[in-house]
Amino acid sequence: MTLVLLVTGCTGHDDRSGLRAGAADAGDPYVPGYGNGGYDVAGYRLRVRYDPADDRLTGHATVTATATEGLSRFNLDLAGLTVSSVRVDGANARHARDGRELVVTPARGLPRGARFTVDVEYAGVPQSVAESTLGGGGFLATADGAIALGQPDSAATWFPVNDHPSDKAGYEVEVTVPDGLAALSNGVPLGRTSGGGWTTWRWAERAPMASYLSFLVIGDYRVDTGTHAGRPIVTAVAASLPADGPAAASVARTGEIADFLAERFGPYPFEAYGGIAVADERVGYALETQSRPVYGPGFFRSGRPDPGVVAHELAHQWFGDSVSLARWSDIWLNEGFATYAEWLWAEHDGGPTAQRSFELRYAATDWSEPSVDPGRAGMFGTAVYQRGALAAHALRRTVGDDAFFRILRAWTAERRGGTATTADFVALAERVCGRRLGALFDAWLAGGTAPALP
Ligand SMILES: [Zn+2]
Repeated sequence: MTLVLLVTGCTGHDDRSGLRAGAADAGDPYVPGYGNGGYDVAGYRLRVRYDPADDRLTGHATVTATATEGLSRFNLDLAGLTVSSVRVDGANARHARDGRELVVTPARGLPRGARFTVDVEYAGVPQSVAESTLGGGGFLATADGAIALGQPDSAATWFPVNDHPSDKAGYEVEVTVPDGLAALSNGVPLGRTSGGGWTTWRWAERAPMASYLSFLVIGDYRVDTGTHAGRPIVTAVAASLPADGPAAASVARTGEIADFLAERFGPYPFEAYGGIAVADERVGYALETQSRPVYGPGFFRSGRPDPGVVAHELAHQWFGDSVSLARWSDIWLNEGFATYAEWLWAEHDGGPTAQRSFELRYAATDWSEPSVDPGRAGMFGTAVYQRGALAAHALRRTVGDDAFFRILRAWTAERRGGTATTADFVALAERVCGRRLGALFDAWLAGGTAPALP
């Protein structure tokens, strides 16, 4: 049987086999060129070795996917690095580079619905992403190791990937580093083995994960491994930061803060907990990397702990990580609820009430900036965060505490592990409350003038 016989009646294809080239991006105008079309990834198995002595990374990625259309060829995203071999279902495949695209032409086409495996061998000195919106994104070589982190772009700087949150997948990561260094990533720790001066650390994130939520942190860290609520908790603080300093004290509250949020948002969505405080000043942000956020040093510069940033990044485990964006223009769904979690935590922790935070922010808001579809340049703008949180509180004031938290819990339960849009959220809120809420969301998220206080 030949593969092409399985595909009949198709039109508009660019060759006579009924197969065509998969799209070279996910069609998201905020990240042109990112992601790809024609397949859906189920899992990544990444085996990488990194040597801080020469910054060289050697990798073997195994990507398991299903063709969503008949494919004569398809793309993966890979920035920099040199590919030495690509195999599809064990057979050598032709491969070519086109900017940050890796174009793979299998020896035989892939019919729609076919499950296939791609093995990519690659190596090189990984590069950062100079134009990253959040700053300092992608792979950073550090004094003692490396940090691969960033939103929206980081994953493609260290492995071949369908680099868009609309294609979530499970991950197994093995990282081999010189003995004495830690190698941290997402999910459950699966132990480590040493030999010949190298140590391999193994991690598994089995819940679907968006590519930008993957990370690597390699270096000299104090690593704490324990159990919280029956699940592994792994925290780590750069050895150059004080053991009793504000970063360590903040990360140490991870379990307590996750439990506080779970009481409001529903069960914690992942198999592991954690948090990592890095010391590299180029990481000027914290990121909600799945099951184990990474915190840059700026949050702790005052000398005081910052549990608010921990509440923000842990809130993303529900809003952004478990329920992910189908497209970046809805990023307020992530940042609005994470910011609102900061208000909730502040009230719980002896700070201002959520109502007071709402009033202060309402008075300070520039209503000309929308939080829905803020434009690529506005992805991490104030409106996305603050108008999003204002909208959350306005919804709470309008429907009442009971209905508000029922909406949040229904959202995190029904959309767990998937992706969603603003329209999905509004529809769910209307269904839970049995009333129309479109005008409320329009006014608080996108209206050009201050909405009436609810
Ligand atoms: Zn955030």
